[in-house]
Parts: sequence; structure tokens; C-alpha cells
Amino acid sequence: MHLIVQKYGGTSVATAERIHAVAERIARKRREGSGIAAVVSARGGMTDELIRLAQEITDRPPRREMDMLLATGEQISVALLAMALDKLDVPAISLTGAQGGIRTDQMHTKARIRAVDTGRLVRELESGKVVIVAGFQGMNEVDDITTLGRGGSDTTAVALAAALGADICEIFTDVDGVYTADPRIVPGARLLPRISYGEMLEMASLGAGVLQPRSVEVAAQHHVRIEVRSSFNHNPGTIVEEVGTVEKDIVVVGVTHDANVVKVIVADVPDRPGLAHRIFAALADAGINVDVIVQTTKGEAVTDLIFTVSRDERDHTVEILERISGETGATRVEADESVAKVSIVGAGMVSNPGVAARMFGALSREGINIQVISTSEIKVSCLIAADAATRAVRAIHEEFELGEAGSDGAAGESPEAEPQGTV
Ligand code: ASP
Ligand code: MG
Repeated sequence: MHLIVQKYGGTSVATAERIHAVAERIARKRREGSGIAAVVSARGGMTDELIRLAQEITDRPPRREMDMLLATGEQISVALLAMALDKLDVPAISLTGAQGGIRTDQMHTKARIRAVDTGRLVRELESGKVVIVAGFQGMNEVDDITTLGRGGSDTTAVALAAALGADICEIFTDVDGVYTADPRIVPGARLLPRISYGEMLEMASLGAGVLQPRSVEVAAQHHVRIEVRSSFNHNPGTIVEEVGTVEKDIVVVGVTHDANVVKVIVADVPDRPGLAHRIFAALADAGINVDVIVQTTKGEAVTDLIFTVSRDERDHTVEILERISGETGATRVEADESVAKVSIVGAGMVSNPGVAARMFGALSREGINIQVISTSEIKVSCLIAADAATRAVRAIHEEFELGEAGSDGAAGESPEAEPQGTV
């Protein structure tokens, strides 16, 4: 049978009215004869609210208990959606992540899916039911509830699509798809009809909140076709899939910005082999993701190491660096939150010289100072002052004429813009 996995984000199930609309959409697809597994997020704002609740109790909640708490948000959504389908006489059943066979590693609050045991899912689907699985959660080896990190429902959906061999994984959100830039900032941003896994992974990692980066990794590994589209209309969205080399002559596909960064400076580290390893191994062991690393020599026998981490890792990072400063010899650890990261992404960059120079030119015309630069084959990122980010994104978008290719450049009528990183 033709099988579709659909994922509905928080704004898509935020109110009773929205839940009914989602149920109608599922019912229609079901009548067309498709089997449907739906993955649902917590209702909009719910996960943030649960985090606030925990913080009212303690500023250091045990991660296991955090997962127990956060997983409740998705359980509310699946139950309500199953009731809405029942009301439409569509047979449906809601399942927690554990009941849906999502097995993860032990890393509470940012667990990774290790396997999907599809037995129950397949049985329910074969009996003709719509299966509704709580996103963002799973169960580890010792039967404890885990969660997959913010935005993790996307990854649940893609993992289910891979495990069930679904024809497509549709990610429903409150924007029409993936844009050349955040349409709230760049009114002329253009909807991308398709994008490659590699480009999507960079866009997602560099601040485009529309998909959890991990979900794109899983999709690429298992060749899951994703369509990102709106649950507020029936417009086609953005297809994420492997794109052939022919299309790679598009040099830059999009501009992203990420305000969720902290610039960390580890000052006066002796210029000796092994010290960078010591520092980054300590951070890696703590599960802290580091980006944009540069090392500057000061002419003496010491260097400054500069890199970025996300804001929620700031305190943990500083704590670790201070703890090992006896070994690294660093005289100072600084964390600066007044920065933002702007990036350009495109698979064609690798074969087109001068792309970075054009980006720097656009920033320089705006009088924006570049603090740190980092590049890969398909992206260039610059760290700049946080308050210049909007101007920077607009100038770069303009420089590469991203709003003008093909379409009318309209940003679409997204009902409410989705906060970065959450749906
Ligand atoms: N509810 C979780 C979050 O807000 C997971 C998700 O929405 O994908 O991050
Ligand atoms: Mg999301």
C-alpha cells in the first residue's frame, strides 16, 4: 500500500480548530487510499512552558526527569488528534514514542534514535488505522523515556518513514516550505521548489528553523524524500532529495542567520601540540557542539582559540574550560553573546571561485565588520555583531539576487511566522 508519513508541528495543532483541520486533512488523504502514520509535536509553546515549569523548581533539573516532563507535551497532541479523527469516523490510534517502537541511546534530552521496532506500527496500519505517534520521544535500553532535542519530532517522522519504507515524509509547518532567506526578514525571499540533502543540512544547521538538522541527516542516509509544506493551505512545498549535478550550477541557494550563538574565546593557550585536542575533546565528551573554530597566533608562544557554541551550552562550556585551564594554561575564558552568524549555502560554491568575496563585499558595503569567517565546500559563515544580522541577510540576499530567479519573488502568506528552531 502507498504509505505516507506526515508530521504536524506545534502551530499546526495549537488549538482545537487547528486539530480539527489536521484531522480533516488526514481523513481526506486516507479516503484517497493511502496508509498514514502521523507524527505530532507538542502544541505551540507547550515545550517552552514545560521548561519554565521545571525552572520554577530548580535551575538544574536532572535530565532524566526533564525527559519525563517534556514528553508529556506530545502525548497531549496525539490523544487529541486521535479523538478528532474518531469524531470523523476515521479509525485511528495514538501511540507514545515507546509504543511506536522508537528506541534511542541513553543521552537524555538529546538522545539519538538507534532503531525503530515497527511491529506494532505495521499491525495497526494493516488493520486500517491511522497511526498517530508522539514525536520527539523514545525509549532507551533501560526503558526510560528520552527526548531527541528541540525540534526532534522532525527526526521521529523521518526515522519512521525510513523504517516503514514510506513513499514520502511530509513535514507540515506554518510556512510554505524552505525559503532563500527567512521571509520575516527578507520580504522578497523566494520559496525553493527543491533542495538537496547537503544544502538542506547546512541551511538547517545554520539557523533555518524549519527542520531539525538531525532529521536531514537521517533522510540522506536512508534516501527518505521529504516535502516541507504548510498545514494552513494546499500549496506544494519544498522537496528535499538528492539533487543531480546538473542542478548544482546554482551557486548559492540561501542565506541563513543564527542568533543562537555565543562566541567563546580561550585566551593565551600555549602554542603546543595537544592542547586544542584537550579542549575540544573535553567539550565533545560533554556532548557540546562546536562550530566556526579559529586559532589566532599572537606572535608569542601563545594563541587565542575562538569558536562558537549555542547559547544554552554557554554555561556548561565555560565551566568545562575553566575546570581544565590548569592543563591548557589558558589565562582567560570569555563568552560573548553579542554576535550572530550569517551564512550562505550552495552546492555550486565549490566550483565557483569568488563567492565568498561577493559575500564579504555585500557586508563591507553595509559597513558590517566580520569577526570570524569559516568555510566548507558548500557554505561560508561569518560571525558579525548581532544587531547587524538583519541588514546583513538582506544585503547578501540582494547581492546574490536570490529573490529573482524564476518566480515572482513573493514571500507567500505565511499565517504566523514560526519561531526559529521550533514548530
Ligand atoms: N516539542 C518539541 C520542541 O518544541 C519537539 C518538536 O516540536 O519537534 O522542541
Ligand atoms: Mg520544528
